Amino acid sequence: MAKYIIVGGVAGGATTAARLRRLDEKAQIVLFERGEHISFANCGLPYHLGGTIVERDMLFVQTPEEFRAVLNVDVRLKTEVVGIDRQKKSVELRDLSSGSMYTESYDKLVLSPGAKPVKPPIPGVNLPGIFTLRDVRDMDALACAVEKPGRKRIVIVGAGYIGLEMTENMHRRGLNVTIVEIADQVINVIDYDMAAQVHRHLKSKHVELYLNDGVAAFSRGDSGLRVTLSSGKVLPADIVLLSIGVKPEISLAEQSGLEIGQFGGFRVDEYMQTSDSNIYALGDAVEVLQPVIDRRLAIPLAGPANKQGRIVADNIVFGNRRKYSGSIGTAIAKVFDLDVATTGVSEEVLKRENIPYLASITDSSSHAGYYPDALPLTIKILFSPDDGRLLGAQVVGYDGVDKRIDLIAACLGKGGSVYDLEELEHAYAPPFSSAKDPVNVAGFVADNILSGIMRIIHWHELESLDHENLFLLDVRTPGEYRLGTIEGAVNIPHTELRDRLHEIPADKKVVVFCHVGYRAYIAYRILHQSGYDDVRNLSGGYKTYELATGEQGNEGLFEHEFIDRDDVICQAAETVAAVSPGQG
Ligand code: FAD
Repeated sequence: MAKYIIVGGVAGGATTAARLRRLDEKAQIVLFERGEHISFANCGLPYHLGGTIVERDMLFVQTPEEFRAVLNVDVRLKTEVVGIDRQKKSVELRDLSSGSMYTESYDKLVLSPGAKPVKPPIPGVNLPGIFTLRDVRDMDALACAVEKPGRKRIVIVGAGYIGLEMTENMHRRGLNVTIVEIADQVINVIDYDMAAQVHRHLKSKHVELYLNDGVAAFSRGDSGLRVTLSSGKVLPADIVLLSIGVKPEISLAEQSGLEIGQFGGFRVDEYMQTSDSNIYALGDAVEVLQPVIDRRLAIPLAGPANKQGRIVADNIVFGNRRKYSGSIGTAIAKVFDLDVATTGVSEEVLKRENIPYLASITDSSSHAGYYPDALPLTIKILFSPDDGRLLGAQVVGYDGVDKRIDLIAACLGKGGSVYDLEELEHAYAPPFSSAKDPVNVAGFVADNILSGIMRIIHWHELESLDHENLFLLDVRTPGEYRLGTIEGAVNIPHTELRDRLHEIPADKKVVVFCHVGYRAYIAYRILHQSGYDDVRNLSGGYKTYELATGEQGNEGLFEHEFIDRDDVICQAAETVAAVSPGQG
């Protein structure tokens, strides 16, 4: 009878244990988890804190009792694996309740210890009131802090997916939320021009956003925590959440001499086997292939961890047969009403890796415009200039974002190109999509770019153009033009263009734009076929230009807000409020 030991009882560990049992009824399977729970929904933690998932128990996808009863897995909670003796094929264990130590032998060992939140050595980082969020214990501690009367201000340091999910959920709980992000944008896996939509949305929700500023120190004053930023600005806070990212939990690799990869995760091969053939590893703790850039990276996402669990179990039981082909990093987050999703890699990564690429931004409706409640949806795709192979995509919108990113990810993951996007067949009826889905449209536009039917320019390239020899043509309506345009642009609506061509100099570069790019494309084709041969369409149109070039943060939003004696957030200078009760 084989004996399998599994370290870590959540996404990767629990999946592996379950599949192992289904494949091998006779094996002895022991699962060690140092926490108090197995198989809980980490991804649901922010939503319980915000009150969307009302019942705490709903987070426990399976209890240890169910696991034992259904799968006959020996689950040992509050038990930490502290060492591996690879020669003896045994693990050393600490029972965290009693403190006692013991060992267990194994035939095959599976490591799914996850990742731990990054906690940089900032002065004061360990003060009470400063939290990270990884597990149920963290969630309970945060819930306790949020519920204390008078807790109204939270500073969230780091604006990745978890930071933004927590922003929404803390806002939902009535807290004033300030985000501090050291980069110039939120969600660094998407591009700046797409993140700009998120910035605007956060500001519309009365979230305070500090970009390009990091935390220099935390301290405690009479009225709570003080967060001192690198810029010198000091933010008051009742609660601080650090959501700066995670790093693989590899203490067991270090202790036992298992190989560690370039980015600090367990090194595993395509079978998810570590440098020891009796030990497999998976999940957030390992580095896996990112096929777009052909590099092994830590990609801490639940989907890959679960899929790897199945592969690990199969390879343990049947021998190394199933390969893990890697992860293209498909992810999504809800940020208030906006959904933000990505797959593949961003422009920044492509630049860093010296991979040539083209980018295109298209805007469509989430479903047929004539059917009620169609909402704008922006797709950015990155693709190879040689053969149109997809390298990355980002989708931002209010409806149907998940469907579009999944379609593109399915295509990209199989090495697909923009030509495949054009042909993707989707289910269509007016409430769901258009006969040409936004994903098809992204493919059509990319095809036009690659074939030379339309040449484009990006918002960040405008600045460097020779403005003496530039004609900026705004083809929107006069009403739209009056509401705001690019400095120096001349307005000729696209419907009037054929009659007003004489107003456009033939010896200058013409950059034509409309709101999102479609009317400008029509204008482009008129111009091109009328003898203008140096014309560019502004990708993503005025919408992207205006979002990306505008003010991104809203520092100081809460400067004049204070909490009054009734525990209510007021907006005025505090000194004025101090005299107001007497006046009432
Ligand atoms: P984990 O699920 O973290 O499990 C590791 C377990 O191992 C832990 O319970 C730990 O206590 C235990 N352990 C570690 N060392 C030892 C030891 N020495 N002995 C015994 N036990 C040990 N991903 C998404 O794709 N989508 C999302 O929406 C999403 N939202 C998230 C929200 C939050 C708040 C968090 C924290 C994560 C989120 N993730 C999301 C990431 C996702 O949860 C992880 O990618 C996934 O859980 C990784 O699985 P894992 O098995 O590698 O690690």
